[in-house]
Amino acid sequence: MQPTAINADRLAGLVTIDWADGHQSQYSAVSLRWLCPCAFCRGEAGTPGWLDSMPTLTPEQTQLVAVRLVGTYAIAPTWADGHDTGFYTFEAMRRSCPCASCAAETAQSTATTQPE
Ligand SMILES: [Zn+2]
Ligand SMILES: [Zn+2]
Repeated sequence: MQPTAINADRLAGLVTIDWADGHQSQYSAVSLRWLCPCAFCRGEAGTPGWLDSMPTLTPEQTQLVAVRLVGTYAIAPTWADGHDTGFYTFEAMRRSCPCASCAAETAQSTATTQPE
């Protein structure tokens, strides 16, 4: 799924993506920060990431400074604390769409794919 438009409103702290199928996803900066997929935040090779420790995020850590495109497959936000290593693929973004209908679908699929 490809976006047709990506709009980052830094003042409002909102990122809006229009998708090729007409769907629109809107992410708050805070929820986006929690989704950061980088090795530091998410951990790697079985090691828990920083976000797994449920840190208290500072205002800087959830303030969008910029959002840049990475090739044709991802966006990379820069946060006010300087963090910019998270590449959010469009696929992952669409999967994390917080709207009611997508959230319902995600809840179903994680329920069936999550190991005990
Ligand atoms: Zn990160
Ligand atoms: Zn959605």
